[in-house]
Amino acid sequence: MVRNIAFILRLKTLETYKYYLAPTSQIPFCSVPLRLDSYSNCQFGCQYCFSKSRGGAFEVSRAKTIDNGQLKKRLERAQRGTPQGATEEFLQRRIPVQFGGMNDPFGPAEEKKAVSLGTLQTLAAYDYPTLLSTKGTLAQNGDYLATLKAGNFYVRISIAAIDENLSPCLEPGVPSIQERLQFGELLAAAGIPVSLRLQPIIPGYERSAEKLIELAANCGFRHVSAEYLKLPLESNGHSFRKLEETLPDLKHFYVENGAKRVGREFVLPAELKKVRLIALQKMAENFGLVFGFAENELLLRNDFSACCNASDLFLRGANFFDFNILGIIRQQLKSNEIVFKVSDDAWLPKKSIFSHLNSKSRVHSNQEDQRAGWTNLLREKWNSGAWRGGPVSFDGVHDTGSLDAQGNKVFRYSSALDSDEGSSEKLAINL
Ligand code: SF4
Repeated sequence: MVRNIAFILRLKTLETYKYYLAPTSQIPFCSVPLRLDSYSNCQFGCQYCFSKSRGGAFEVSRAKTIDNGQLKKRLERAQRGTPQGATEEFLQRRIPVQFGGMNDPFGPAEEKKAVSLGTLQTLAAYDYPTLLSTKGTLAQNGDYLATLKAGNFYVRISIAAIDENLSPCLEPGVPSIQERLQFGELLAAAGIPVSLRLQPIIPGYERSAEKLIELAANCGFRHVSAEYLKLPLESNGHSFRKLEETLPDLKHFYVENGAKRVGREFVLPAELKKVRLIALQKMAENFGLVFGFAENELLLRNDFSACCNASDLFLRGANFFDFNILGIIRQQLKSNEIVFKVSDDAWLPKKSIFSHLNSKSRVHSNQEDQRAGWTNLLREKWNSGAWRGGPVSFDGVHDTGSLDAQGNKVFRYSSALDSDEGSSEKLAINL
């Protein structure tokens, strides 16, 4: 009997997803850097997705799942003011979690396991501000909908901007575009804020993006964010081979248009994306939607506080994280000069966040003083080039070539637009 219980406990441990909640490595510039996932891998099969090739797999049987009891304990400690570790300090601060940050919470496994439902109910019990990202439509039913209504949720429905006929090839297993829009309409009618996440936009299909924005506005969505495809370099992977079959000219387009290799992806130049995204912004705003630039380089174009998602506009009692490069620049956007200036009031967890960064940044984890260590890390980025996430990696920020009294670089910001930037004639490009 005792052996049986030990066996069951061991099995449960093996099935439990340990890393379900963590700050992401984007903390140096993201204002909502907390990711939450109920499954360790995604059961959809989007051809452009990096999630599977970088640690995930979409077989339902291999998915580990969150222990919602553990999440409850962490939220409880945060609420009581006794957080353990930096992640719980973020919770205490009520920085929104991005539920579905890596893997979709509403894949086929959820129909049997209802694990994500438990996660939603746990978050709702604490009225925890939550951004929920999904391509699934399961949450339109019974308990899911009731929980979404009761809690503090803002739902982002992701759709790739592409020809409707190609969508089933590109996003196999995912509900159709029409089903996703209907899901959003149902949520909006229930009073839940809904966003259209145009992610990714496939270059050449900007007209599809326009059409989706119009449909979303008609369905009661309140926000749209947009980001171009970052072309994965893992061309050996199964889904990336399929991507080449679906869009055979795509790689050629990226090469021809000066895409740069960033990490394991090809990224289109900011100038090329900007002009087209500004056109989409104008259109979205004409329909009464808030528009968010989701490209890292264009984040300064967002005039709300929370990154591209505008969660500060749609969630109750939500904070955002601004002790980072983007936060320092934002506070000085109207100044002539932008200098490295850290406010004494800037909030930072007391416990270490360095283990959540990439290995290059982790060398700082030896710093005894967390605040000084973090400031040093930001200062290094500040004085580096664009490739390390320094200020010039953001569109509109220019290095003046001078240094301040502490020897840190001085920058200038100019958001001036060319007169025809964002005009619809510039929108259409052909593959
Ligand atoms: S739903 Fe999201 S996480 Fe899942 S395969 Fe598609 S893009 Fe990747």
